[in-house]
Amino acid sequence: MKYETVNPATGERIRAHETQSGAEVLDIVSACADAQRLWWELPIEERLPYFTRLASVLRENKDRFGGLITLEMGKPISEAVGEVEKCAWLCEVYAENGLDWLEEELVQADGLEHRVVFQPLGVILSVMPWNFPFWQALRFGVPGLMAGNGSVLKHASNVPQCSMAIEEAFALAGFPKNLFRSVLAGHDTVSEMIASDKIAGVSLTGSTNAGEAIAALAGKHLKKVVLELGGSDPFIVLEDADLDFAVEGAVRGRMICAGQSCIAAKRFIVHEAIADEFTQRFAERMAALRVGDPMLPTTQVGPVVHEKALKELLAQIVEARDLGGKILCGGSRLEGPGSFLEPTVISGTRPQMRVVSEETFGPVAPVIVVENDEEAVSVANDTEFGLGGSVWTRDLARGQSLARKLEVGTVFVNSIVKSDPRMPFGGVKKSGLGRELSHYGLKEFVNVKGINIYSHGIA
Ligand code: NAP
Repeated sequence: MKYETVNPATGERIRAHETQSGAEVLDIVSACADAQRLWWELPIEERLPYFTRLASVLRENKDRFGGLITLEMGKPISEAVGEVEKCAWLCEVYAENGLDWLEEELVQADGLEHRVVFQPLGVILSVMPWNFPFWQALRFGVPGLMAGNGSVLKHASNVPQCSMAIEEAFALAGFPKNLFRSVLAGHDTVSEMIASDKIAGVSLTGSTNAGEAIAALAGKHLKKVVLELGGSDPFIVLEDADLDFAVEGAVRGRMICAGQSCIAAKRFIVHEAIADEFTQRFAERMAALRVGDPMLPTTQVGPVVHEKALKELLAQIVEARDLGGKILCGGSRLEGPGSFLEPTVISGTRPQMRVVSEETFGPVAPVIVVENDEEAVSVANDTEFGLGGSVWTRDLARGQSLARKLEVGTVFVNSIVKSDPRMPFGGVKKSGLGRELSHYGLKEFVNVKGINIYSHGIA
């Protein structure tokens, strides 16, 4: 396995990087453990300014970092720069709330004082995907360090330059040397790291297959694990929804990052009374999107990440068509270099089709028509995934009621699903274990320690 930058917009191989040896990576883990032992002795209030500085570094370098994101994984530059800005906001939210969110708790029990304190676990390994290369890595790294841990990042093998730039950002913000390190490690070395006494836990964001492999290793070595995995989010449009708004939401919810987001809307479940109108308008808007060079600020949709992903999406589309689905727009790759796929809407889809039963990681939108709310919930929950979902209706009580029935970690009513540092983020079923963001994410990798003081024996 090798780390390599390949531009998805052109297919050009830009630069390969040597994968580091196991011994080299374990030395880095040791150095991180040494740095972490000093870091966690800092009172939390003295940790906060580091995150404010990291926010400034990210904002000052947003164009350079955004350019690397677009070069390596192909999302439009406007989205890439927005991703770096969102990371800066994440740092600011944690700098503002970290002290409160880690505040010790006093409990009434039978002794003199009962106190719950939140202490770091040590060095946490993070294994991250390419689709939001800055956001995913910082979404774990910032709370991890705020809680007093150290962190070693093993990023996806197609985003090595992003990985190194993230380490650089922590260094520029003045964090202690070695507290946040990025490594270019192979899968075998990931296993060695998880086995090492110097790694206290592992957080993986990625596919369900990778989640199973990492969870098995974490289980074998009794390490704490958090998993943020795939999704097939339902987008439910009820007959009373504002259709202008719902259609806009459908396009944005499906097409961010060319559809390669875990929380993208992936199944459009539409009430029969408005199904024809919604579907036609949705397809028209999808067909009108500007697909092309992701470095241009006017581009709305870039390439998918590589040829293999494109071929997989084309196979899902062909199967849906062969089983009776109707391609309303798109369905083909763009002529010329780069792995571009036309935004695609398919009506007449059924649960047996792979575009419905699997995670479609690209610009492909299956539409399913339902008769009522019960059927909408039943179709929405008929999946192995449980990450997010959205409900579009003018009746907020009805939206709230459906939200509670969806088997997912996050629901939005009249908004696309999005992550927010102030709210918990994560999935149920095969979408993962544990939570990121908010105070819940901050406390995933801490020792929730009880300190119980009794006065027995004191005069
Ligand atoms: P992936 O192939 O599972 O890779 C994710 C990371 O895991 C990469 O760093 C990869 O390294 C590593 N990895 C994979 N198998 C491994 C193994 N056996 N041992 C050690 N490391 C291993 O996923 P992806 O294609 O990059 O990302 C897309 C998937 O991530 C989608 O399913 C998406 O829904 C999911 N995702 C979920 C969330 C969420 O928050 N729930 C967010 C974003 C993405 P290599 O690159 O070196 O193979």
